[in-house]
Amino acid sequence: MIKLENIFKWYQVGGLPSFVLKDINLEIEEGDFISIMGPSGSGKSTLLNVIGMLDEPNEGKYHFMGEDVFALKHKKRTALFQSYMGYIFQSYHLIDELTVYENIETPLIYKNLSGKERKAIVADLLDKFNIVGKKDLFPAQLSGGQQQLVGIVRALATSPKLLLADEPTGNLNSKQGEEIMELFTELNKQGVTIIQVTHSEKNAEYGKRIINLLDGGIVKSRS
Ligand code: ADP
Ligand code: MG
Repeated sequence: MIKLENIFKWYQVGGLPSFVLKDINLEIEEGDFISIMGPSGSGKSTLLNVIGMLDEPNEGKYHFMGEDVFALKHKKRTALFQSYMGYIFQSYHLIDELTVYENIETPLIYKNLSGKERKAIVADLLDKFNIVGKKDLFPAQLSGGQQQLVGIVRALATSPKLLLADEPTGNLNSKQGEEIMELFTELNKQGVTIIQVTHSEKNAEYGKRIINLLDGGIVKSRS
């Protein structure tokens, strides 16, 4: 599903390159569940952004579902993202001007669905995640944990084949966090490929593989 080859990413800092990703080589099969760990600043979010086609490295190759990602035009990349990927951001990235309902509906607008079909999907999700009562509220009216939950629900709205999650439980209490990990496990059983970034050893153990990043390089990987 995913093949990253010799990925390098750097920023020029004071005229010198500062490496954020250093020679990343990674293959991920459909149906895998990967946990990425590593200290703050080790490149975890950058790597996830590269996989999610939201960021481009300075060097390297990336094949996703057989497509040479960096050779694709922006429009084609966006279409690929919308057909296959769901992204849970570390800082939620909800749209402030939209209600909870509208935020969850947003990724569905790009799909070929009728208004009625969209409505049914959103209603189901609101019900499943016990947030029906919050549907008309705006992000600013929610706690951090509630915003994170809405971000998770939005990422799931399109039933993605690949779920990318950047510290998805960082702002949840331990019980909510556990529920999300159980949900990921269930989705993975149904065939969803999952890549999560986490600081929690316990949450990392839900993955089938753990990848450790240090200073932009993979230092240890165990399956
Ligand atoms: P993590 O998610 O593991 O905490 P990130 O991928 O967010 O790490 O960041 C990796 C490194 O890249 C950090 O040291 C960060 O300071 C650096 N970095 C990110 N964006 C920029 C930028 N625009 N300019 C310079 N350095 C950056
Ligand atoms: Mg990060």
